[in-house]
Amino acid sequence: MDTKKKKLKISVDHNLEERTIKRIEVNAEVSGKKPVGKINFAELRAGGFIKQRQKDKFTVRLKCPGGNMTLDRLKTIVAATEKFGSGQLHLSTRQSMEILHVDYHNFGPLVDLLKEAGQDVASCGPRVRVPNACGGCEYNPNGITDTQKMANVVNEKFFGMRTNHKFKMSFSGCPHDCIHAASADLGLIGTVWPVWEEASCTGCTICASACTEGAIESHPETGKPIFDAEKCLYCDDCVRACPTSSWTAGKTGHSLRVGGHHGRHPVNSTIAARFLTDEEAEAAIGASIAWYQKAGEGKGRIRLGNLLMQEGQMESYMAALADAIGPEKLEENIEAPQKITIRR
Ligand code: SF4
Ligand code: SF4
Ligand code: SF4
Repeated sequence: MDTKKKKLKISVDHNLEERTIKRIEVNAEVSGKKPVGKINFAELRAGGFIKQRQKDKFTVRLKCPGGNMTLDRLKTIVAATEKFGSGQLHLSTRQSMEILHVDYHNFGPLVDLLKEAGQDVASCGPRVRVPNACGGCEYNPNGITDTQKMANVVNEKFFGMRTNHKFKMSFSGCPHDCIHAASADLGLIGTVWPVWEEASCTGCTICASACTEGAIESHPETGKPIFDAEKCLYCDDCVRACPTSSWTAGKTGHSLRVGGHHGRHPVNSTIAARFLTDEEAEAAIGASIAWYQKAGEGKGRIRLGNLLMQEGQMESYMAALADAIGPEKLEENIEAPQKITIRR
């Protein structure tokens, strides 16, 4: 038996909340056994390998953009969990699967096995994280926007970019906002601008019943809608409920919310733009990340929302956004939806 002891030292950025980066030193003695596989320090630093309380054990966070998982990847994850974990998987709060209790000696072969099925490790630390998304219009009856498509766009084009602090994006297909896009650094929510056409309206009052926001009342004599634009959430319920298609979708697209986050000091996001096409949404995401990287220079670990609260920063951000998508879709420039008047 080899009695020689070799010290192996690994440093990782641990994914701690808020202001503190804690360097975790893992000291391991390799004695009498070969390390199993090659340890990729770059991958460790990029995150996804999260130190556990247990000595030498890590949680390995897997990339699941939009919470999407194919059967092939799932089978491989199960096999990897049996071989390199404790047989226990955990679902993170942000739609990622996590293999628990992985000995760091096994990182190399674990990553290789996962890669065979196209399964990547996620990220931690100050960078663009894996995007969250609900089912959206692909199969959800309420879905207005293609959230899964947008999650893939973010995964391919923006995932892993360095930022001042963690940067989370979420896509909800409609204003129900099941994925909590309103509290992400960038949240995009599917919306519809409802337009009414009087000629085909029979005054059936169904739309008033369908609108749970109280934005539509029925005229007491004609039954036709009286619309209150201030109360409208652009949810599309009236459009889908109307049996004569008198309500139609005037504009469809993403509302862009900016600067939200959870954590010790939660911040609600602000609506910055409305009715963005997929292409405009992608441009807005790119511009937001670029602005955050530049405006945050020298400011340490600061979340986007906290940066935007500093004097002059929201104005600077909105100017960058206007450069990327044009000024007409900024929230401040959206015209009030149509005023509907009913002839008596
Ligand atoms: S946000 Fe809307 S589209 Fe997405 S899951 Fe919820 S109800 Fe469905
Ligand atoms: S789109 Fe507006 S008016 Fe129509 S149901 Fe939703 S909240 Fe009501
Ligand atoms: S549901 Fe359609 S047809 Fe019925 S009152 Fe509303 S707009 Fe008119």
